[in-house]
Amino acid sequence: MIINQELCVGCGLCVPYCPIGAIEVTGRKASIDRDKCVECSCCKRSNVCKKGAIQQDDLKWPRVVRSIMSDVFTIFEDTGVSGRGTEEMKTNEVTGRFRPGWVGVALEVGRPVAACSFRQVQDISTALAKSGLVEFEPCNPITSMMIDNRTGYFKEDILDERVYSAILEFAVEIEKLPQILELCKKIAEHTTGTVFSLDVASVTKDFQDKKVWEIIRECGITARPNGKVNLGLGKPRHEF
Ligand code: SF4
Ligand code: SF4
Repeated sequence: MIINQELCVGCGLCVPYCPIGAIEVTGRKASIDRDKCVECSCCKRSNVCKKGAIQQDDLKWPRVVRSIMSDVFTIFEDTGVSGRGTEEMKTNEVTGRFRPGWVGVALEVGRPVAACSFRQVQDISTALAKSGLVEFEPCNPITSMMIDNRTGYFKEDILDERVYSAILEFAVEIEKLPQILELCKKIAEHTTGTVFSLDVASVTKDFQDKKVWEIIRECGITARPNGKVNLGLGKPRHEF
């Protein structure tokens, strides 16, 4: 995203519309910190600039990765997934990727509002992969940018690209959940310059969700439960 300096009058109305704090008014003009900007398009989409000064420039590889992972309207061609991923979590009723005995786990790196670079995401994904417990969900835009979904390494040319959030997803057997949670706690201690939210998704059949709740509590993590029902996804391809 850029601000056309000839059109901008420096009113500053656009500044609060950037979730990353990348817009600044100095003198009589606003400008965007190109390194900070994650190409989420919030500033332009808000239509706050009546001078038409906020303009989308041509995004080439690797910068276009910012838009794919930050703008909810951008669809990633390789996976057909928009909204920055979460294929597994959002469609489990249909896909059955994690069934009774399994849980889905997601680490939402960069959320809320801290953003993150792929280098920071890679620090987390490689630490997860080294445990030997994790194989990242293939139908996820972040996984598809990895060189190998068993090692967690990303393509070198995207490492310095910053995104609003990057969601790492995988499924594990419920018995392995305590190890995963302990590992996530260790990773959190060594994570600097960004944040991550940890999601654990489970089916409710045979009170599995209660068992998962207990495991989380025993690991000393405070959980905030959410139920989720997706409508209009189609007929399940499996039965729980
Ligand atoms: S709203 Fe438009 S005119 Fe005002 S500072 Fe932002 S870019 Fe410039
Ligand atoms: S595209 Fe997003 S990150 Fe970039 S300046 Fe606009 S609101 Fe901020």
